[in-house]
Amino acid sequence: MSDQKSGKLLLHACCAPCCGGVIESFLQDNIRPAVFFYNPNIYPRDEYELRKASLLAYIQRLGLSFIDADYDHACWLDAVKGHEQAPERGTRCSLCFDLRLACTARYAYQNGFETFATTNAVSRWKDRSQVHASGLKAAAVYPGLKFLECNWQTPAMQKLINQVSNREKFYRQRYCGCEYSRPENMAQN
Ligand code: SF4
Repeated sequence: MSDQKSGKLLLHACCAPCCGGVIESFLQDNIRPAVFFYNPNIYPRDEYELRKASLLAYIQRLGLSFIDADYDHACWLDAVKGHEQAPERGTRCSLCFDLRLACTARYAYQNGFETFATTNAVSRWKDRSQVHASGLKAAAVYPGLKFLECNWQTPAMQKLINQVSNREKFYRQRYCGCEYSRPENMAQN
């Protein structure tokens, strides 16, 4: 894991399409977040690399810091053990958000960021309160660290997200990330 640092906001990013509009909105407010990519939930590895490469190219064009955290899918599988067949927005997803945001909070605290946020609740398919519960829990471990609770599911933000995604020709995934969210596995649930 690199120890790059920029500004005071660390943004956990799940993928380029969810990230573009959010980052451009921050830039309009003169906030330059550092982007933290920790997504060991994504399966298979080829899909993980595609999502990371699409986001990294964009972040480099903007000249922002990109922290490439470890890919340890075995660790993620261990974290969701016993909840593999839970539906989306259920217990498996809570454990998934917990793991990713705990790692983000630790990195933020250890590297001098005051605040962190996540793009995990950008999609209107996600339960914002579920994601924010994981963020708040992760932040509570570290004195002074804040989790930024944003509502990016508004029509204006969804429009900006689509505009940036189309303009930048981001890679668009067909499923959330883990093997249990792939279309062929969802059909069996
Ligand atoms: S569906 Fe998405 S949020 Fe839920 S466990 Fe899988 S990768 Fe994580």
